[in-house]
Formats: sequence, C-alpha cells, structure tokens
Amino acid sequence: MLLSATTRLLGRGKTLLSHPVKRICGEMSTSSLAGKRLRVLVDMDGVLADFEGGFLKKYRARYPAEPYITLEDRRGFWVSSQYGHLRSDLCEKAISIWESKDFFIELEPLPGGVEAVKEMARMDNTDVFICTSPIKHYKHCPYEKYAWVEKHFGHDFLEQVILTRDKTLISGDILIDDKPDILGVESNPTWQHILFTACHNKHQSLSPSQRRLQSWSDDWRAILDSKRQ
Ligand SMILES: [Mg+2]
Repeated sequence: MLLSATTRLLGRGKTLLSHPVKRICGEMSTSSLAGKRLRVLVDMDGVLADFEGGFLKKYRARYPAEPYITLEDRRGFWVSSQYGHLRSDLCEKAISIWESKDFFIELEPLPGGVEAVKEMARMDNTDVFICTSPIKHYKHCPYEKYAWVEKHFGHDFLEQVILTRDKTLISGDILIDDKPDILGVESNPTWQHILFTACHNKHQSLSPSQRRLQSWSDDWRAILDSKRQ
C-alpha cells in the first residue's frame, strides 16, 4: 500500500513536474539563445528588388517623348525630386510609375540578393527579416510587396516581412538599406546601418558610423560575423 502510494505520488510527481519543468526549460533556452542570436534587417527596394531599373524601364515606356535620367546620372535618394528638378511636371510623372499596378511585383531581383538572404536564414543563430517601407498610395504596393516575397522566397518567408514607415522603431543588430539617412521617432535605433550601394548613393561619403555593402558579391558574411562578437 505504501509502495503503491509512493508510486502513485512519484508518478503524479513526474506528471506534475514534467510540464512546468519543460515549460521553464523551454523559456530558459529561448531567452538564453535570444542574447546570442543575430537579427538582420534587410531592406527591399534598392537592396533586394531593382527599384531604380524597374522605374526607368517603365517611365521610358510610358513617357517615351519625355527626358529621363540615366542610372549613371542618378543623384539623391528621391527619384521624384531629381525628376522634379529636371522639369517640375516630371515629378508627378515619376510618381505615377510606382503608384501603378504591377510596378512592385514586376521588379527584378538584384543579383545575389535573394540567395544571400536565403543563406542568412539558414545560418545558425541568425534571424533575418525583410524590413520595407510601403508607399502611402497603398492600393497596390503593400499587396505586391508580400506577393514579391512569396514569389522569390516562398510562402513561409512571409513570416519574415516587416512593413513599416519608420524603421527606427524596429530592433535589430544590422539594417542593410540603400537609403543614406534613416530617420524616425527613435533617435537611437538598435541596429547599425549598413549602406547598400545603389546608383543614387555611390558618390556619397559615409558618416563615421556607417559601413557599405557594395553589392551582394561583397563580403556580407564578414559584416554579419563582425556583429556576432
Ligand atoms: Mg531601399
């Protein structure tokens, strides 16, 4: 009777203990790993998707008689500003291109970008997110950004998509982005900005805290490794 009571107690004890212990261990392993994992945020337009090339192709097709700016002559992040300086009405014509249906979904991937992000996602202790700012003309852009990720990365990768107009709010170790100045409400973002070289920023000098990734053939693995220590 004593044995059976003890067995029952032990048995119950095991049952009672196993779940809390498992739960606690689960929480501990998750939280202890969290400190070691590298979180990489990767921008989409101008880093993974060829916004500039896609824009120029569609602009020239829609406005064949209008002047245009070659990729070699692009300066400054905002395409519409440079077109507006060329001739004031061209600003609106430029905007009409990326506000059109199928602009974002039809952007070509930049060489090596999709493969690099897939490789990052397979690395140990590494979390990678695609962090992108949709345009405010929301009829097509947010949908097409998701569709683009699904088309090039597969459905499961949609879990890794962050749409935000303010990237300073997103925490991460690295943000790979072609926009030289990434500002928002958070004056001290957690990430280090790695400037991805694009036609519009290649002549710009960097601030001391910035580093460049020249292209996806450049050593992005070394940049990630430098942040793991
Ligand atoms: Mg960009």
